[in-house]
Amino acid sequence: MATAYVYDFGEGSREQAELLGGKGANLAEMTRLGLPVPPGFTIGTDACRVFLRTGAPPSALADEIAEHLAGLERSIGRRLGAADDPLLVSVRSGARFSMPGMMDTILDVGLNDTSVLGLAAASGRERFAWDSYRRLVQMYGATVLGVPAARFEEVLTRYRRRLGVADDLGLGVGELTEIVGEFRRIVREVAGEEFPQDPREQLAGAVLAVFRSWNGERARVYRRREHIPDDLGTAVTVQAMVFGNSGRDSGTGVAFTRDPGTGRPGVYGDYLPDAQGEDVVSGVRDALPLQNLERLDPFSYERLIAVLRLLEAHYRDLCDVEFTIERGRLWVLQTRVGKRTAEAAFRIACALVDEGTITWAQALARVDGRQLDQLTFPRFDTQADGAPLAHGVPASPGAAVGAVVFDVAEAVRRAATGERVVLVRPETRPDDLPGMIAAEAVVTGRGGKTSHAAVVARGMGKVCVCGAADLDIDVEGRRCTGADGTVLEQGATVSVDGTAGTVYAGALALVPSPVSRYLETGVRSAGVVEAVARFLEQADAVRRLHVLANADTAEDAARARRFGARGIGLCRTEHMFLGPRRPLVEDLILARTDADRRLALDALLPLQREDFTELLAAMDGLPVTIRLLDPPLHEFLPDHTESALRLARARARGEEPEPRAVRVHEAIERLHEQNPMLGLRGVRLALTIPGLVATQVRAIGEAVVARVRAGGDPRAEIMIPLVATVEELRIVRAEVERVLAEVGQAAGTPVHCPVGTMIELPRAALTAATIAPVADFFSFGTNDLTQTTWGLSRDDAEASFLAGYLERGILDVSPFETIDRAGVGRLVDLATREGRRASPGLRIGVCGEHAGDPESIRFFHEVGVDYLSCSPFRLPAARLEAGRAAVVTATDADSR
Ligand code: ADP
Ligand code: MG
Ligand code: MG
Repeated sequence: MATAYVYDFGEGSREQAELLGGKGANLAEMTRLGLPVPPGFTIGTDACRVFLRTGAPPSALADEIAEHLAGLERSIGRRLGAADDPLLVSVRSGARFSMPGMMDTILDVGLNDTSVLGLAAASGRERFAWDSYRRLVQMYGATVLGVPAARFEEVLTRYRRRLGVADDLGLGVGELTEIVGEFRRIVREVAGEEFPQDPREQLAGAVLAVFRSWNGERARVYRRREHIPDDLGTAVTVQAMVFGNSGRDSGTGVAFTRDPGTGRPGVYGDYLPDAQGEDVVSGVRDALPLQNLERLDPFSYERLIAVLRLLEAHYRDLCDVEFTIERGRLWVLQTRVGKRTAEAAFRIACALVDEGTITWAQALARVDGRQLDQLTFPRFDTQADGAPLAHGVPASPGAAVGAVVFDVAEAVRRAATGERVVLVRPETRPDDLPGMIAAEAVVTGRGGKTSHAAVVARGMGKVCVCGAADLDIDVEGRRCTGADGTVLEQGATVSVDGTAGTVYAGALALVPSPVSRYLETGVRSAGVVEAVARFLEQADAVRRLHVLANADTAEDAARARRFGARGIGLCRTEHMFLGPRRPLVEDLILARTDADRRLALDALLPLQREDFTELLAAMDGLPVTIRLLDPPLHEFLPDHTESALRLARARARGEEPEPRAVRVHEAIERLHEQNPMLGLRGVRLALTIPGLVATQVRAIGEAVVARVRAGGDPRAEIMIPLVATVEELRIVRAEVERVLAEVGQAAGTPVHCPVGTMIELPRAALTAATIAPVADFFSFGTNDLTQTTWGLSRDDAEASFLAGYLERGILDVSPFETIDRAGVGRLVDLATREGRRASPGLRIGVCGEHAGDPESIRFFHEVGVDYLSCSPFRLPAARLEAGRAAVVTATDADSR
């Protein structure tokens, strides 16, 4: 059928996720592979986009759906909602990017007062028919007609209590019939309309509800967090129902081709007998480990294992699969490349390379720097004494400590004030998403590895323990009680170990993770450490970007070297002027005569020389880029208000304040600036304070001489900050060269240091062609360049409006976190191209925070930057990302 919006499963393939959504595309792919998929069709995302734009579906859509439905009815030989043996369908959401549980799906569409009897008669299972009808009215009422879900839950709870049964399986035909009646009354009362009896009206209503669920609260929150664009829209899949709730010989489950927690091969998943759809995920009943299926239904189990093998071989990756068994027959309802923990990501990709399934380039596409960072987070000290408060399923690894809270609002409120919280719930639902985002860790009393909490937490990289049954959770009383009787009230501190699946009262001590121990010592061990080590070797072998470190001390430098730095790309000399040396800088600022200034500088000289000597020793043979003094001088003086108060207090006591305190205060007033960020700082200091540059450069030059004499290979480079015009650079450079020549002469050996400039003002970027011939290198200070391009100060913005901008979607991501390609990025690109054109050998680096950000690194690679310089702890991730940038094509990254 040649139609514009609707596609049968037989017409699509996995490449069409953009149009059919991930779910629809993979259902089509599995149909083509000949797997047992219930037939159906998918309405493309473009129909949803029309709906989102205009408020109505495209006019042709209704006819197209009718046509495809007729085809489906013909192929199955049953009619939607017919009085005898009706066809029922599910109406499923599914976007380009997986948004598990964030949008709506409606099952059992087609049931009404007549067809429920037909279903009962045809199946010979009356209870099953009424259970399905009950589910439809409940789901339809909540998602299509907007009835609060709690209204239906109350009724079910009341019936369960009355009969004294633990779950819905204890409700018989009589009760279910009554419940359907009550549900329909609630619909009438709350929605002001009848639950529709016409199956086609049900179908049309369900399709619109799925379209609308794209803009539901939880879907929007999830998209913001995952940086999924808001205008993609969802596809809608209409699929023949198969019934896991038709008795003990039926059931439904979720399976993984490998352990999504550790990456180990094997059979992982959950199975719930006599259940439908979301019963597994919602944790209403505790699911069985999938292994049990082998005993319950060996034939279906074997078929399932064969399907898992085939899917992993076909997708060449970990897959997760939704399946249903109807009266001993296996059906596959969904597959996708499964979400996994950071550890599993590294181990699985490595294993697949070893099995010859994928190449290293493809493997690099499947891990990222953020995941590597996660693996370096500390773990709990398992040697620490104290028994756990509760045990559960280790659903998402890591260690978290926080104040225990029992509801979403409280979690969000406390997190907003900067408090770390742990969300403890009997189970989580999609509406709990904001609380999960706010929390450091999530603990649930019910549910397994595939419960909502587990899936969502893993996707977000949050610590999670599920099914902690020995924890008695009293949501109303805002407290929980451990197995040993320990009571924790709201706000009490707990420690959650997502790797072991344990919860402890109080704050446990932390120890370094195996991966960070490896990075520190270079000692490899089997498992995740080996996988990470191999990935870093691969990345180092292919990356074009050099990776240097920001380091100010010999200790940082040594760590940076261990973490793989090829030198120091930014040494901030201001850190040498703090602490006990501050009074010396004060002397410099207070100096009124050249002689006083000389004295102060002479006192600083040997200290700096020593610092530089140590630094050059730690980085022997590699470049050490030293930035001349950058921050405004008031940063070296006491706080303005404090100093004023101290003077006022002394005077109030009738004392005469110390003369030095008075002079310091005068200096504070003199140096006070409205906008210190845009004031007397950077190269402007060098041009304003006589002797400052000479002293710093002399210290550097003499350190070089000292290292050469000690038999070392010092590679000092000098970097001038905040240059706006080439004139500034020209003057300071001449001074640098004059001093270095002097030092060389005195030592009897020439001292040469390359001199470069930071590019951190828009004007510097725009005039890169004139600056380049005077510089040996450029280093983009992307932090200041972002501040000055956007006209905002980072600290002020973060303290006031930036969070609001992100929340409202005015910004997708903070420009301080990921380089703003369209604005700041254009300046970087322009300065790189024009700088190189004017001075072909020009070396170009980046030394802002962005140099450690995965997305930004890809950009710097594309622009043709030569090196990155980031803080030592971000080095491993930067090396990995630089390697990925070199080999991962957009298609590789997309196929994740
Ligand atoms: P989600 O994206 O939230 O997982 P799904 O569309 O996958 O939503 O559907 C929710 C649940 O209903 C899943 O467990 C799925 O397997 C089940 N389901 C969907 N369609 C059918 C069907 N045709 N027959 C039986 N179960 C179905
Ligand atoms: Mg699903
Ligand atoms: Mg700067």
